[in-house]
Formats: sequence, C-alpha cells, structure tokens
Amino acid sequence: MRASIRVDMARDLEDPAARKIADAGLRPTAARVAIVHALEATRDHPSADVLAARLGMRGKRIGRATVYQNLEKLVEAGVITSLTSSDGLRRFDATLEAHQHFVCTESGHIYDVHVDPQLLRLLKPIDPASGKPVKGAKVGQVRIQFVGAWQEPQA
Ligand SMILES: [Zn+2]
Repeated sequence: MRASIRVDMARDLEDPAARKIADAGLRPTAARVAIVHALEATRDHPSADVLAARLGMRGKRIGRATVYQNLEKLVEAGVITSLTSSDGLRRFDATLEAHQHFVCTESGHIYDVHVDPQLLRLLKPIDPASGKPVKGAKVGQVRIQFVGAWQEPQA
C-alpha cells in the first residue's frame, strides 16, 4: 500500500505543475494541479468564479469553495499570484516572472505587458510631504497597472 502511494506520488511529480506545488511546500492534490493547469492555459487573469466555471467545463468536479481555498493557499505559497482589477475583483495569474498589467476598461480583460527594466530601476517612492525619496523604503518589486482601452490589432 505504502509503496503504491510512493509510486503514484513520483508519477504525479513528473507533472511540472505538481512539482511546482510540491516545491512550494504544498501537497500536489488533484484540485491544486487542475487549478494550476487551468491558470497556465490562459493569460486572461480569471477570477475565482471564472476559473471554477472553466474547471467545470473541463469535467473537473471541484467545488467552488475548494477552488477558492486552494487559490488562497497557492497564492500564499507563491505558486501563483493575484491582483485586484479596477472593478475590485480578485484575479489570478500563473505568470510569476516580473511583468505589468494593462486593464481594459471596456472589456475588463487584463493583459500582461512589460515596461523597460531600466525605467523601472529609476522609479523611487517619493514622500508627498517632502517631495524627496522615502528613506528606509526598500523596494522589492514595482507593479504598474495601465488602465485604458485596449483594442486588439486588426488582422
Ligand atoms: Zn499577469
């Protein structure tokens, strides 16, 4: 019994999503692996509800509460990230590499975009009162959110 569990675990960990979850210190349950697969298959930053609906359409019988709880755990463990869109909805993202977002006010879609890294290095938090760089503020990451109308290029 124990040996077969080990074999199953080893087979499962050949899946990069399961490996990522295990490396983050979480058990790679079927629900978590399915959530990460669904997020990696899209770049549109779905909400928990949209993700739960997509998993349902793929025939994955994962309850909405399970999707919510596991999204939280995956964010906490650093397997995925989340952001809040301008409509206040929490959205989820499997892209961990540094990137910025463009929120389309017309469609509600969120697109991944990049900003010149040299420009990002120049940005410093300025104290609104003194107009000088904030002392003691150690920047770990700069997140820029562009908001506007995004028109898909015409083919
Ligand atoms: Zn993103």
